[in-house]
Parts: sequence; structure tokens; C-alpha cells
Amino acid sequence: MLFKSSKINEFRLWGLLLTMGGMGLMILGTAGIVFWGQAGKVAAGIGLVIGLILMLGSLAIYFWAGMLSTSAVQLDCPECGKLTKMLGKTDRCMFCKTILTLDREQATVTADELEQNHLQQNSAASTPK
Ligand SMILES: [Zn+2]
Repeated sequence: MLFKSSKINEFRLWGLLLTMGGMGLMILGTAGIVFWGQAGKVAAGIGLVIGLILMLGSLAIYFWAGMLSTSAVQLDCPECGKLTKMLGKTDRCMFCKTILTLDREQATVTADELEQNHLQQNSAASTPK
């Protein structure tokens, strides 16, 4: 995990970065012909090939993310209450970035405890002394 975001969002980010990089290289390669003439054609060729590979890579990542998201677990985030998706046993909420886990061993707070905390906070707020 490089970024503090959910896995699905991270896949999307990498896909986007690869697409941008690929397109950038292709544009730079093509621009090379204009600026350097004959010598630029080699650079253009290399740029186009690498750009194409990056674009294909991003396509693969998007495809993979799509496959993964179909097997992702949908659940309501206990922290912000929004519907989010989880990949694997531990992932972050797509909205509030809270770390969620399905593994009871790794959980520091169970859903029941969290609910009780919320209830206690609510009742404390509604009955001020
Ligand atoms: Zn959340």
C-alpha cells in the first residue's frame, strides 16, 4: 500500500497514472520528430512502443480492478455509514479511509463495540447534565 486509500481506489489511480504516462510518452515521441527530424524518429519509435506498453498495462490494471471489484465485499462503513467495498480481509473505507477488517484477530474494535460507543455518545449528547 503506497497511498492511504482503499485498494480499489489505488488500482484506479495506478491505471490513470499509466494511461497518462503512456499518452505523454507517445506525444513526446511524436514531438521528437518535429524537433530533431531524422534522429527524432528513433526516439519517437521508442516512445510509441513504451507508451503503447504502458497503455496496455493500464488496460490490464483496469480490467483486473474490474474483476476484483466484482468479488469485493460490499458493506456499510461503521465509521461514516456509507456503502463501501472491501478487497481481501483488510482494506480501507473508500470515503473516510478508516481501516476495516473482516478478521476478528486483527480488529481492535468489533462492530458491536463500535455500535455501543456510538450509542453511548448519542445518549450522552441527548441527556446533558
Ligand atoms: Zn467510512
